[in-house]
Amino acid sequence: MTLRPAYLLGVLVLLAAGAGIALQGDPAPAANPASVAASVQVSQAPRSTKPSAPTADASTEWLDNEAALMDNALYKAGRMPKSGCRPPSDRLRSSAVVIAYARVMVGCLNRSWKQLLTRADFSFYPPDFAAYKDKTSSPCGPADDGAVAFYCPENHKIYLDWPEYVTKRRDEQPYAQTALMDVMAHEYGHHVQELVGIGAFADDRYERASGDAQLEESRRTELQASCFGAAFLGADKQSLQLVGERLEGLQDDMSTGDESGGARDHGSEENNQYWTSSAFDSASPASCNTWKASAEYVS
Ligand SMILES: [Zn+2]
Repeated sequence: MTLRPAYLLGVLVLLAAGAGIALQGDPAPAANPASVAASVQVSQAPRSTKPSAPTADASTEWLDNEAALMDNALYKAGRMPKSGCRPPSDRLRSSAVVIAYARVMVGCLNRSWKQLLTRADFSFYPPDFAAYKDKTSSPCGPADDGAVAFYCPENHKIYLDWPEYVTKRRDEQPYAQTALMDVMAHEYGHHVQELVGIGAFADDRYERASGDAQLEESRRTELQASCFGAAFLGADKQSLQLVGERLEGLQDDMSTGDESGGARDHGSEENNQYWTSSAFDSASPASCNTWKASAEYVS
């Protein structure tokens, strides 16, 4: 095993009440001015394992990378099975409710992804889940300041900073719930990347690149995780009651891109919307091949 520079994939979702508030420069959802402003942002963090060390034959390894990322069998697995997900409708006003909600989401994601991955001949195991308050450590390193959720590939665990989702106001509830389902589906998307062999190869490419090229590798990974999440949410849109203001809230969450002036590691609002809306409508990871997309779709 080779210790490598850490690369933690995380999502930052900040909830703020009030019209027009943009946290860390992220645009507030325009469609719901009096609601929760949610922003999604990458956090870079450690990743220290990978399944395979680089081989002596760099050209062979490159071909393997290309195949795993661009021609992955997951893209041909078809439509995502519905899980029939029905998370609790209780208001997210305490840690217990937030954590219970997140655990239900993990269970739903397990059901759908297990079926789809098995269909495509991948082996499946569920991620672990842990909720924390403000700070935590993981085999991938500590949670970044500001990151409210992340996936650690080393122990296959999703970490959620639960206080970020606690909200007391009744009118914020629909948006707090859609933000929570979105972040869980996104982090689970990173777990799926690990299960199908994309994660390790994406990591290779990230580590070999630098500067703007490295940011583009990050965006391909992050946009795909969001896209996988959107495929799941699209399949379950009925049981998740994703209509009306809840659907608008989710669409705002899913299309939030890099904050202005911040690191360009998650992609533009336009491209987040492009990938997640496609996958939400198709309910299929066939819509999520960010590795074959030209640069303009992963900017
Ligand atoms: Zn992520």
